[in-house]
Amino acid sequence: MLYRGRFAPSPSGPLHMGSLVTALASYVDARANKGEWLVRIEDLDPPREKPGAAKHILSDLIIHGLHWDGEVIFQSSRLKAYESALSYLIKTNAAFKCICPRKRLNNDGTCASKCFLRQHYLSEKFAFRFEYDPRASIKINDFILGEKIWKNQDLPKDFVIRRRDGLFSYQLAVLVDDISQGITHVIRGSDLLDSTPKQHEIGSALNFPQLKYGHIPTITDTEGKKLSKQTFAPPIDGNQAVQNLRQALLLLGQKQPDNILKTPSGILRSAIEFWDRNTIPKEMTLTNLPIKN
Ligand code: GLU
Repeated sequence: MLYRGRFAPSPSGPLHMGSLVTALASYVDARANKGEWLVRIEDLDPPREKPGAAKHILSDLIIHGLHWDGEVIFQSSRLKAYESALSYLIKTNAAFKCICPRKRLNNDGTCASKCFLRQHYLSEKFAFRFEYDPRASIKINDFILGEKIWKNQDLPKDFVIRRRDGLFSYQLAVLVDDISQGITHVIRGSDLLDSTPKQHEIGSALNFPQLKYGHIPTITDTEGKKLSKQTFAPPIDGNQAVQNLRQALLLLGQKQPDNILKTPSGILRSAIEFWDRNTIPKEMTLTNLPIKN
């Protein structure tokens, strides 16, 4: 099977257990399917970046034995590709300029001021919105969560693909890069599940092949809060790489590697050998862990 997966962190902080779980799942799934695994740094939003975070993430991946194929791509070097995808969307009437701030949108997110009727006259700062083609529903066969259906009324409308400040949105950039890097399988956190129909629609408008998606349940901490950089999840300790990998495998519902394995590469070899997508739990809580650091 042709398989190329990836891990695509934003450099807004160091790796925490949640991002390690995502990195590990995408790596092991790729290797278990004899696939390649790429790393892309999604540094599109400078105000949200932490200086040094990209370097820190890459060195943490190496410390955990998660070696990638090819060169690491930085999204900040890919603006021309996003510009040309946007031009195509404008040319095919799938994107339009919009001057409306959030409070001037309709409840369903559509532009209330009919900006699309005034495309040639808009001189203020404008965003580009993707004009969503209303359908009955979108169905995705998530290879971890199973079938996911979004009904038309739940689907995001007229969402931004380039912001008023000129920054490209994650939705457009991630898809352009996944396709241009030849990615076939995307494994990422369930916090991004609602982005999937948006990316699906942008992909159809750009005539891109469809990607296969698998979403890992978000991990909650002992108080039920989602583990993320925004909730100040503690960074993983690089000196505990083997323990971290064992914890991540437990969270992923995978067989624990034999106790005699004491190196990241040994743990990863075992993880690849016994990898089973079907045992990934639907919920992950840190309290489930018998292993303590
Ligand atoms: N850059 C995103 C993040 O760090 C992940 C993007 C993706 O996997 O699609 O949350």
